[in-house]
Amino acid sequence: MAETKRVVVIGGGVAGAHVVRSLQFGADVTLIDPKAYFEIPWAMLRCMVEPSFAERSLFSHNDYFPNGRLVTSSAVSATDTEIVTASGERIPYNYLVIATGSTFDGPSSKQGRIKQFEADYDKISNARTVLIIGGGPTGVELAGEITVDFPYKKVILIHKGSRLIDFLGPKASQKTLDWLVSKKVEVHLNECIDLESLSDSSTTYTTQSGMNLSADCHFVCVGRHVASSWLQESVFKESVNKQGHLKVDESLRLRGKTNVFAVGDITDIKEIKQGFLAEKQAKVVASNIQTLLNSSGQKLKTYKAASPMGIVSLGRNAGVAQLPFGTVIGCLPGRIKSRDLFVGKTRKGLGINS
Ligand SMILES: Cc1cc2nc3c(=O)[nH]c(=O)nc-3n(C[C@H](O)[C@H](O)[C@H](O)COP(=O)(O)OP(=O)(O)OC[C@H]3O[C@@H](n4cnc5c(N)ncnc54)[C@H](O)[C@@H]3O)c2cc1C
Repeated sequence: MAETKRVVVIGGGVAGAHVVRSLQFGADVTLIDPKAYFEIPWAMLRCMVEPSFAERSLFSHNDYFPNGRLVTSSAVSATDTEIVTASGERIPYNYLVIATGSTFDGPSSKQGRIKQFEADYDKISNARTVLIIGGGPTGVELAGEITVDFPYKKVILIHKGSRLIDFLGPKASQKTLDWLVSKKVEVHLNECIDLESLSDSSTTYTTQSGMNLSADCHFVCVGRHVASSWLQESVFKESVNKQGHLKVDESLRLRGKTNVFAVGDITDIKEIKQGFLAEKQAKVVASNIQTLLNSSGQKLKTYKAASPMGIVSLGRNAGVAQLPFGTVIGCLPGRIKSRDLFVGKTRKGLGINS
């Protein structure tokens, strides 16, 4: 009898979730993730101003992956045949998918994560002035959520760079700045605060240029790092480039490997790191593994980098979108993303219809 092939997927974020969902009925699939739940990343800022929003944007991995094995731990090392986890397990594989995206050091249970959102909500509700450090998508979306839901609070946003959301083009940055200023958000560009100097009780802040700011609380919205440091302890360390991304070929295999794939934000594909692209890549990887499992000799599918586009929400009704035909701000992108932050669409995409 033929040996059952084992597929191991490391990382239960957008990319990993779509791979295991596609492969679970055709192979012996194991998913390794330190969280016992799936989190829709682009819904988290709404959860901070409306914690009950997390009831639908966090869900169990079993909801989309009922037919496989879930290991709630982090991968800490890998050989050519097995993965080692922080809990000390050694998990053998024939095919491996690395989908560890960005680092996450939050709670491992859904209830723990909801408690974190409730604490953020209390912090915001009890503050008159909120300081947000970081003007990437997380900082800007948080500023949008607070300023729309709590219009009488003062919001200060400081950003190290010369333009906000600089993963998109200058037009999107300028329109976003204008929108925030029109909502009375105090934005300071080219300013930064030493994160080491911060504590939970900080109320006065000095930027590196010497500017003094006062706020009742702050949120650090910088420092989403590629989750690849664990790979330094693995046989794949030579596949990690200087930015921490894994070098992949056009069929999304690690360069020089025949049975190891990478997918999502961890890859070195030259495109904006986006969840909808992680999902597209996941389809290619799942199809390629299925082809290899079938030993059909069929050609593997290839993935082509996408053109730069994205939508950043600005509270519940507005957004800024960089689309192939131009950059727009206001209620059109708001209607596409900001009302339910793609929660219904994401759940449906993972086969959760309720
Ligand atoms: C504020 C914000 C808004 C966004 N809005 C959008 C949007 O509107 N549309 C869009 O398409 N994209 C959006 N994105 C981008 C999108 O969230 C990412 O591109 C997407 O999450 C990438 O998916 P991923 O699976 O590669 O990585 P992640 O979603 O980061 O998932 C990685 C997973 O790996 C796990 N992991 C990490 N290390 C280990 C380890 N050592 N062992 C095991 N597991 C590990 C983590 O727990 C996590 O579950 C947004 C991002 C942010 C921050």
